[in-house]
Amino acid sequence: MKAAVVNAFGGGFAVEDIEIDEPRGREVLVDIKASGLCHSDLHFSVSNFGMEPPMVLGHEIAGVVAAIGPDVTEFSVGDHVVGSLVQFCGACQACLSGDTVRCAHPEATLRAPGEPPRLSRGGEPVLAAMGTAGFAEQALVHENQLVGIDHAVPFAEASVLGCGTITGAGAAINSAGVRPGQTVAVIGLGGVGLNVVSGARLAGAARVIGIDLNDEKLELARAFGATDVVNGRNVDAVAAVQELTGGGVDHAFEVIGRQETAMQAIAMLGVGGTASLIGIHGADSKIELDPNDFLRWQKKVQGVYMGHANIKRDIPFYASLFLQGRLNLTDLVSAEIALGDIDEAYEQLRTGRTARSVITRF
Ligand code: NAD
Ligand code: ZN
Repeated sequence: MKAAVVNAFGGGFAVEDIEIDEPRGREVLVDIKASGLCHSDLHFSVSNFGMEPPMVLGHEIAGVVAAIGPDVTEFSVGDHVVGSLVQFCGACQACLSGDTVRCAHPEATLRAPGEPPRLSRGGEPVLAAMGTAGFAEQALVHENQLVGIDHAVPFAEASVLGCGTITGAGAAINSAGVRPGQTVAVIGLGGVGLNVVSGARLAGAARVIGIDLNDEKLELARAFGATDVVNGRNVDAVAAVQELTGGGVDHAFEVIGRQETAMQAIAMLGVGGTASLIGIHGADSKIELDPNDFLRWQKKVQGVYMGHANIKRDIPFYASLFLQGRLNLTDLVSAEIALGDIDEAYEQLRTGRTARSVITRF
């Protein structure tokens, strides 16, 4: 099958013919119909985050079940599915409490050492990164990482549910617990940040302030429910938010992964406000905290992993909101591209012009 392989960090994505094994145990063979280009895969392709080449990245997938392993109970051939990088065993204390993003044994979803690899090239293993390896014609995915989806949801929109939506909307709804009437600022309005805007609106926020450096993104944010927008290129974002809210927001979300914007998120909080950090930072990034700022002004800061999602609960929920016209997924899909266009599409993402490019031609 065709797959976009990362052969070296920073070397881009090369479309090659590689081999995919038969499904074993609880694995599902998925014909990929749509695969979103999250910014995280760009990070993972240029530096070592614990995954090493040769590897197939891609973790925002939607497709059709082509075959199932002998122990699969949840899916049948022909089902439409969405996949996520959240790996959980389903049996540990965290999983049993519903906190599947805190699973103690995520490796339970992968093949054991000594078993043949899921992906290979000329007899040599190729890493099926995150257990999804979605930049390919097909993927072998443990059934815990898949969720059945209504056939009415188009594949491109469905794919974004697998990361952008559960992370962004989940950050507002699950992690931050935004309440009706609160004020929210979102710094970075890409595929994830726009979903934070959606989540804040769904949670009933009175004001949702979108901040980006790109005017097109600010316009787009309004289509997701932003009530105010600020271009951080022209004005001091912290001062602008303080002025708009008369002292600072209840919740600020950093959705880029930069020291400067993470510190802005903390600085723009009002008394008792919470900063939620979502963007992935480079290894040398550090943020400075003033302890007195936290004492006197009772600020809080938290990291957000995958929107504290429970994918089996949250993905069907967001899909139903989309079908009811209450969650905008359509405007997230900036372009439908071919498997061979990944490098070019990531170059556009770096400039901040696109929300999500989605591979729909393999
Ligand atoms: P993206 O590239 O689509 O969006 C980033 C946005 O930030 C762009 O719109 C860009 O114009 C804007 N931006 C850049 N610099 C800015 C600045 N100084 N001020 C204001 N805006 C600025 O990326 P994405 O796919 O939405 O992902 C966002 C981040 O979240 C990435 O770091 C990604 O790796 C990370 N992520 C984290 C999790 C998690 O579980 N924590 C999950 C998914 C993605
Ligand atoms: Zn992602």
